[in-house]
Amino acid sequence: MSKVLITGASRGIGVAAARLFAQRGWDVAVNFNSSRDKAQALVRELSGLGVGAVPIQADVADPVQAERLVRESEAALGPLDAVVCNAGVALPQQLLTDTTPDQWRQVMSVDLDGVFYTLRAAVPGMVRRQRGAIVTVSSMWGAAGGSCEAPYSAAKAGVIGLTKALAKELGPSNIRVNCVAPGVIGTDMNRDLPPEALAQLGEDAPLCRIGGAEEVAEAIEFLASSRSSFITGQVLAADGGMVI
Ligand code: NAP
Repeated sequence: MSKVLITGASRGIGVAAARLFAQRGWDVAVNFNSSRDKAQALVRELSGLGVGAVPIQADVADPVQAERLVRESEAALGPLDAVVCNAGVALPQQLLTDTTPDQWRQVMSVDLDGVFYTLRAAVPGMVRRQRGAIVTVSSMWGAAGGSCEAPYSAAKAGVIGLTKALAKELGPSNIRVNCVAPGVIGTDMNRDLPPEALAQLGEDAPLCRIGGAEEVAEAIEFLASSRSSFITGQVLAADGGMVI
């Protein structure tokens, strides 16, 4: 059975991804930071599907915890076939000039540093085994840049650069590295937006709606699975056509 570690799997897109991987027979390490109850409930649900599932608390913005996360995932499940770097945070929309250095650091530390720390810990085992798949989660703003979303856009653009660089570095080791760039998705990340504003954002997409976490999960699982065995270094937009 294949094994996957999904960071930020206690809510939103991470939960949908964990469910989909488990439905397709993967054992899943469910990383959470603060939402322990939600992660534990998800693990009970996944275990009911007959796969291995384990909740692991770790703040991916801390290199020591990210390293422990990978070690504990492998101790519980065995060598990882795939890692999904999904954990992320966003700030309320605001001007760059209203953004404090602490806010900038908070976004960069989770959304970009967290990917680096997690992969720095996971890659050596994949290289030893000469196989693996890595999926990062960026954003349409990482590709297109969002007004009043400068720190988030910068961090998510960094994730795309990291993905492409690592695809070149790890391809000779038979490790694929790809990225999913979601558009506007109905999760907690957008819970502070007024419903009208959220609906309007959806209308801006060619498909005229916001997306569901399950729709992003499909793209993530595809890029982690052998169905995408000749695909690496790519950014797959799951955004209803918002960035074309
Ligand atoms: P969400 O519902 O707010 O969930 C965020 C998840 O990340 C939670 O499970 C949270 O865990 C985890 N997390 C946050 N900080 C963490 C940390 N320091 N260490 C470990 N885990 C941490 O967000 P989402 O919408 O599912 O977003 C998932 C990914 O998709 C993010 O990278 C986000 O930037 C990206 N994305 C989302 C959208 C969107 O519209 N929703 C659009 C584009 C890209 P705890 O609750 O346990 O702390």
